[in-house]
Amino acid sequence: RAKGDAGESPRFYESRMDEAVRARSAVAMELREALARGEFELWFQPQALLADGRITGFEALLRWRRPGHGLTLPGEFVPVAEQTGLIRPIGAWVIGEACRAAADWPEAFGVSVNASPGQLTQTDFAEQVSDALLAARLAPERLEIELTEASLIADHGRLLEVMVELKALGVRVAMDDYGAGLASLGALRSFPFDRLKIDRAFIDAMDRDPAAAAMVEATLLQARALNMPVMAEGVEDASHLERLRRHGCEQAQGYYFGRPMPLAEARRLMDRAAGGAAAASAAS
Ligand code: C2E
Ligand code: MG
Ligand code: MG
Ligand code: MG
Repeated sequence: RAKGDAGESPRFYESRMDEAVRARSAVAMELREALARGEFELWFQPQALLADGRITGFEALLRWRRPGHGLTLPGEFVPVAEQTGLIRPIGAWVIGEACRAAADWPEAFGVSVNASPGQLTQTDFAEQVSDALLAARLAPERLEIELTEASLIADHGRLLEVMVELKALGVRVAMDDYGAGLASLGALRSFPFDRLKIDRAFIDAMDRDPAAAAMVEATLLQARALNMPVMAEGVEDASHLERLRRHGCEQAQGYYFGRPMPLAEARRLMDRAAGGAAAASAAS
């Protein structure tokens, strides 16, 4: 039947809900093709020790070189990938790719990979990680999986199970975006996290909002009581750095130390850092 025939309500086709569903499935189809065509890339952002600014590793951040759109950030497509289940194959690619990249780095540098709740609920998630480590010949200690509070809320039993499996492999697990959601330090005590990353919103607000500053300081104190090292996210300037250092924060990530960058650039940064360390020890 031709469009506009009597009996079909044009309004039905114009309904926003319908529109949103259609847009989502169109993007989902594009994402599936993007994976097959190799349009995804990992970029890498340095993570540093606050004590001496030494870079200890990189967080792998997903990018989509989307035809006609340029380099697309995860905020624009990861939610659709999560809603459609595509985060599973895409996430598996991310883990494999991150392990392959890090296996080629000097041993001093680790890699952190983000995982969504939908990935963790796969019964073979730890096996997937283990296979990726073996295939890349990467030491498990050099891989860290970052989970958000969304995983904590989704299914406690399953989360604990998968964390135990990952830790049995020797992989580390970090709590990402801490403070942005509902998780409390009390809840964190029940899970064997190796590190806590304070959400960027708190670091950003620290200088102008006493409540944000207090939250950061309280988190640092409590994490210390739990023996959990803390990494501040979104450290952009020296004033953030100074304040965090004063309150005993161990690690940081943010534009101050470096923006996410392509693999080759991260590699050059590592070579310079390693060269600098070698030069320093030769001079002493
Ligand atoms: P995240 O894991 O919290 O990653 C940190 C985000 O903060 C990155 O955004 C990074 O570019 C940004 N950032 C880092 N330092 C600064 C800073 O100093 N200032 C500001 N303004 N921003 C900073 P990006 O790459 O857009 O990623 C956004 C989120 O997408 C990530 O947040 C993570 O939740 C998700 N994501 C990224 N890659 C993956 C992936 O491979 N798998 C899954 N499941 N999620 C991913
Ligand atoms: Mg992260
Ligand atoms: Mg984060
Ligand atoms: Mg985030």
